[in-house]
Amino acid sequence: MSKSWRPATQLVHGGTTRSQHGETAEAIFLTQGFVYDTSAAAEARFKGETDGFIYARYGSPTNDMFEKRMCMLEGAEDARATASGMAAVSAAILCQLKAGDHIVAARALFGSCRWVVETLAPKYGIECTLIDGRDLANWEGAIRKNTKVFFLESPTNPTLEVIDIAGVAKLANQIGAKVVVDNVFATPLFQKPLELGAHVVVYSATKHIDGQGRCLGGVVLSDKQWIDENLHDYFRHTGPAMSPFNAWTLLKGIETLPLRVKQQTENASRIADFLADQKQVARVIYPGRKDHPQADIIAKQMTGGSTLVCFEMKGGKDAAFALQDALEVVKISNNLGDAKSLITHPATTTHKNLTDEARAELGISAGTVRLSAGIEDSDDLIEDFARALSKVTA
Ligand SMILES: *Cc1c(COP(=O)(O)O)cnc(C)c1O
Repeated sequence: MSKSWRPATQLVHGGTTRSQHGETAEAIFLTQGFVYDTSAAAEARFKGETDGFIYARYGSPTNDMFEKRMCMLEGAEDARATASGMAAVSAAILCQLKAGDHIVAARALFGSCRWVVETLAPKYGIECTLIDGRDLANWEGAIRKNTKVFFLESPTNPTLEVIDIAGVAKLANQIGAKVVVDNVFATPLFQKPLELGAHVVVYSATKHIDGQGRCLGGVVLSDKQWIDENLHDYFRHTGPAMSPFNAWTLLKGIETLPLRVKQQTENASRIADFLADQKQVARVIYPGRKDHPQADIIAKQMTGGSTLVCFEMKGGKDAAFALQDALEVVKISNNLGDAKSLITHPATTTHKNLTDEARAELGISAGTVRLSAGIEDSDDLIEDFARALSKVTA
C-alpha cells in the first residue's frame, strides 16, 4: 500500500484486504463477532497481545477497509467509522471533554452540530461560546482558562463562509486546545484540515462520500495518540459503530469520489456564473468565484471551489419557492453531495428552528437558496434554471 499514491488511486485500492477467495471487490463481513481456535487465543486477543477483531461494535473487517482508505486520503494515522455524521461529530466532541470544560464554536454550523454544542454539552456541564468564526479576533476573545475544544465547519452551511483553519489552529495550540473541523462542505479532496494544523477531522459520509443517496455514515480521523486516549474507549462503550453493509456501500461510493466531485464542481461553477447574471438573483456566493468575500483565505487553504452554490432571490420566499417549484431536473431536497442536483430553501427547512435573529446573523434571508450540484450534464442544468427563472418575476 503506497502512501505516495494520488487520491484517485488511494480511493480505488487503499485499505483493501482480500479473503482466501481473492475477490476483486471488497467483501462485506456481516458478522457481529469472531471465533478463536483456542481459549488461549481468545485470552491473548482480549489482552491485546495479538491483532484481530473481537466484536463488531469495536471494529470489523469491512469497516476497517473503509477507515484505512479514509486515513490514506486524509493523511490521518487512525480513524473510526460511525453510523452517521452526527455520531461522528458528537463522539469527536464529547469523548475529549468533561464537566467544567469550555468549547468555542463558530456559530454557522449544521443544525444538529449546533444543537450538540449549544444545547447538549451544557447539560453535562460543558460550556460553549458561539462566535462569528470569520474573524480570528473573535476566537481569541472567546478563550477562557478552561477552553479545550475549538469546533468549526468551513465552508459553512448554507452561506459558504470560510474560516481560516490555520489561524484558528495557531490560537488553539497556544492554549493546548484541540481543533475539530467538520470538513463535509469542502470534501476530503479540496481541503486538508490536518495539514492546516487541525487535530481532528469529521465527515458525514452520507454526503459526497456515498454521493448516491443510499446510506448514512460518518468518520472521525486524527492522530493515533488522540484516538487511543480519547475516542477508543468512548467508541467501544457508547456504540456509534457503522453497519458493515454501509461501510461496504461507502467503500464502493468513495471509488468514484474524485470523478463525481470534479463534475459537481464544474456544474456548480457554471451555474454560479449563470445565476450571477440573472435579473431575479440579488447575490451569488460561490467559493470558486473571485467575488467571494473571503477569496484570499480560500486561495490559501482550498484546492478547489465547491459542489454547492448559495444565492439570494430578489423576490424573497415567494420567488425562491417559485424557482424551486419550476425546476424539473433539479430536485427539492435538504440533502447534499448527491449525484442528483438538489435545491433547498434553508429558512423554511434546514434552518427553520433558528430564531429570526440567529438566521440573520448567518446571512440567511427569506430569499436564500442553496444548490448542491449533481453530476448531470451542465447544459441540462443551465436550461433547467433558465426555464424556471423565466417563470419568476424579478
Ligand atoms: C449532514 C451533515 C452532518 C450530519 O451528518 P448525518 O450523516 O446526516 O448525520 C454534519 N455536518 C455537516 C456539515 C453536514 O452537512
